[in-house]
Amino acid sequence: SNEALLTMQAQRESNARSYPRRLPLAIKRAEGVYVTDMDGKQYIDCLAGAGTLALGHNHAVVREAIEEVMKSYLPLHTLDLTTPVKEAFIDELFASLPRSFAEKAKIQFCGPTGGDAIEAALKLVKTATGNRAILSFHGGYHGSTHGTLSVSGTTDPKKKIHALVPDTHFLPYPYEYRCPFGIGKDGHRISSTYIENLLDDPESGIVTPAGVIVEVVQGEGGSIPAPIEWLKELRRITKERNIPLIIDEVQTGIGRTGKMFAFEHAGIEPDVLVLSKAVGGSLPLSVVLYDRRLDKWEPGAHIGTFRGNQMAMATGRATIRFVKENQLPEYAHKMGSYIIKQLTSIQKQVSSIGDVRGRGLMIGVEIINPMKQPNQIGSYPAYPELAKKIQQECFKRGIILEVGGRFSSVIRLLPPLIISKEQIDEVLDRFYEAIASAES
Ligand code: PMP
Repeated sequence: SNEALLTMQAQRESNARSYPRRLPLAIKRAEGVYVTDMDGKQYIDCLAGAGTLALGHNHAVVREAIEEVMKSYLPLHTLDLTTPVKEAFIDELFASLPRSFAEKAKIQFCGPTGGDAIEAALKLVKTATGNRAILSFHGGYHGSTHGTLSVSGTTDPKKKIHALVPDTHFLPYPYEYRCPFGIGKDGHRISSTYIENLLDDPESGIVTPAGVIVEVVQGEGGSIPAPIEWLKELRRITKERNIPLIIDEVQTGIGRTGKMFAFEHAGIEPDVLVLSKAVGGSLPLSVVLYDRRLDKWEPGAHIGTFRGNQMAMATGRATIRFVKENQLPEYAHKMGSYIIKQLTSIQKQVSSIGDVRGRGLMIGVEIINPMKQPNQIGSYPAYPELAKKIQQECFKRGIILEVGGRFSSVIRLLPPLIISKEQIDEVLDRFYEAIASAES
């Protein structure tokens, strides 16, 4: 039963467990958007491995890709050595990039996590420029290792880890609901002037940073899309000063936001692109793609054992191909717009939704306390207790969704890209019931 497994888990696994505390679930079976627990209860999974499962659970093309590798007697693990599976994965991935970026890019396979690929990206720009400062953004999330945590904006997990990587500087992210930086009529001008001043002021200590790292849509920070104009400005400023721009698309890549890559919405290109999660098509894989002019590191500069997982390359290739062939980015855009429209009408019927936002199928609902005073830009205080209650009410009704954001007050929806309109309507109906019940 669920209870038996959850009890065993609580006794045997570390205290650092996180999701299971909020979602008491032991999973027996999973298919498409559905997971079934040990007691036979079915849920719609709008967390989907924190955005990993673009095609949902156990998609036929993913299963076939695994079977194909098994049947072929190819090696399963190869360090950096190449195989036909690896070259086919690279072909598929490069064919899905904007042509001008693909033409200048090189690829580095990393240890299987997003965090490892971010580490590689940071080391790459430091090596290439000879500089050490990294510019990053409030509320950004790039991983849980020392280096990635150092450049993450989330302060809470850092408090107990004292010796982080020095020389990281944080800038405000254009979080439209709570922060006027970079938004509004003059926002982009104010924002770019601020960043330019910082880079031109010898007293700031960051005149020549090694790089800037940014999420085009902040994920863990609360599903916050950066305004397009702001992204263009950031690209202009970094380009003019020859500062490598690292775009972290670990969560947004492979169609989730309504384009194959989220940077495409702004018509910009990164110098360094980091991918993980969906790029492995359900299995662990991460890569860094970068302008070959940055390829100045020595052989062995970023090594690691598990960078040759053939199964993940095969499932990744199958997933990227399926996403393209079935126009899933366009579908994610259409469904995302529909969800936002429906959530905006729910917002009018309840009192605790402060903001509904997102890009494609990466959506955030900001839960607020309307009984408190709004601040100067009209945003109300976050209400994490209520967000948690809504999550629990959804869970009771068979919907798995995540709570995130810097105040733990954002309900996050990251369903598989193959979710049907009917399934979306079911999620929205249950969500409305859950929020009405949590508010009462
Ligand atoms: N960057 C982003 C944008 C992420 O969302 C995450 C994971 N949530 C990471 C990096 C780190 O990836 P991993 O957990 O695989 O180390």
